[in-house]
Amino acid sequence: MHKAEAPAEPLIIDDDEPPSSRLAIDTLYPAPPAGQPAIQLTRPVFILPARKTSSLRYPKLSPETKAFQKQFFPGSTARDWHDWQWQVRHRIHTYDRLHQILPLGPDECLADHAVQLPLSITPYYAGLIPKDVPDHPLRRCVVPTAGEWVKMPCESDDPLGEDHQSPVPGLVHRYPDRVLFLLTDFCSTYCRYCTRSRVVGHGGIRASRARWEKAIAYIAANANVRDVLLSGGDPLTLSDDRLEWVLSKLRQIPHVEIIRIGTKVPAVLPQRITPKLVKMLKKYHPLWLSLHFTHPDECTPDTRAACALLADAGIPLGSQTVLLKGINDSVPVMTQLMHGLMKMRVRPYYLYQCDPITGSGHFRTAIAQGLEIIRGMRGFTTGYAVPTYVVDAPGGGGKIPLMPDYGGSHTNDNLVLTNYENRSFTYPDPMPVQG
Ligand SMILES: *Cc1c(COP(=O)(O)O)cnc(C)c1O
Ligand code: SF4
Repeated sequence: MHKAEAPAEPLIIDDDEPPSSRLAIDTLYPAPPAGQPAIQLTRPVFILPARKTSSLRYPKLSPETKAFQKQFFPGSTARDWHDWQWQVRHRIHTYDRLHQILPLGPDECLADHAVQLPLSITPYYAGLIPKDVPDHPLRRCVVPTAGEWVKMPCESDDPLGEDHQSPVPGLVHRYPDRVLFLLTDFCSTYCRYCTRSRVVGHGGIRASRARWEKAIAYIAANANVRDVLLSGGDPLTLSDDRLEWVLSKLRQIPHVEIIRIGTKVPAVLPQRITPKLVKMLKKYHPLWLSLHFTHPDECTPDTRAACALLADAGIPLGSQTVLLKGINDSVPVMTQLMHGLMKMRVRPYYLYQCDPITGSGHFRTAIAQGLEIIRGMRGFTTGYAVPTYVVDAPGGGGKIPLMPDYGGSHTNDNLVLTNYENRSFTYPDPMPVQG
């Protein structure tokens, strides 16, 4: 409509050189006239070498990873290892195979219970787990234990009541302005505490064009849906083409403002984040990603490279973490994870209380523990590193935030507050006049 006239002068002069560049130094400190001594710089000037993006994209395999690959995937190459399709094809999904790689303990041999969440671990993720640490946090996340077969009275297969809020299979419309759209039930690695364990890996929520079309038609017909959250299963296990089909259809709907993708791929299959995928994703901005992370050991060089590609494409990255007993339920571990995420330009978003899904009792902590973790972070580190702790209310009430108690009691006309160091402060806050 409004065709901007070319301004007479550029509004922004963007050819200023950064102060450490050679040109800037030469301008600030011109070469002395012949015969005079050069000006001595009082402070050293650092000139950063150009970053090699190729080495950033494909970090070298560590000696441990190389040895692991050689032992369990003989004949495969480093190129294979960096190929996400190879990783998916070679995922560990039988107990025999798992037992070869991570010898199973007495609590871990459960081959005959096929009805529950399936087993799958990418070679990459298996390679991060030391085989001689039975309770290693990453092992507990992905290797089934007997605890999964214990059903407590408070647990259910659909604690969040998602099935009742699904106008179309695989589409959950719980909040007024946004929907959760489950694209596939497949994950390259299954988390033993998965909230959707009744759904994932069972073929109920297929990645089928016919089902997707129904969901997209629902979104197109509901003008109040301005935000679509793609989840699963893991949407990034779909091929670029299939994912792009969905993104482009959603982008054709004028009232869809934001598209979000929830994924664990950067933690379990970072090889999937290819330059080609990222180039495709950035066509559909504003696109946000919520990355699922559980433990600081997931912040590896490969994951860092994957997040760098995504962040460089202008995709805002948030994180989601489930609070898990014995895995990340302490202040130091949670702080280390959140700091690790921030260093990868991932902004901590949600910390979830573990849902009472069937067989999750061994993972759940008391809510008091979650509150103590938040209390142990707030004030001790930047607020950027502190996620919002939420309980997803059983029965479909949605996410409800929980905060430690910082006082907030009135004495006369003052509000009494407690700071992170447990010291009291008052803020003048007159009580409303009664009557
Ligand atoms: C978590 C969730 C969302 C998204 O919630 P935000 O707070 O916007 O991140 C949307 N729908 C359902 C059903 C959810 O569980
Ligand atoms: S990545 Fe998400 S959907 Fe897949 S198993 Fe883990 S928690 Fe469940």
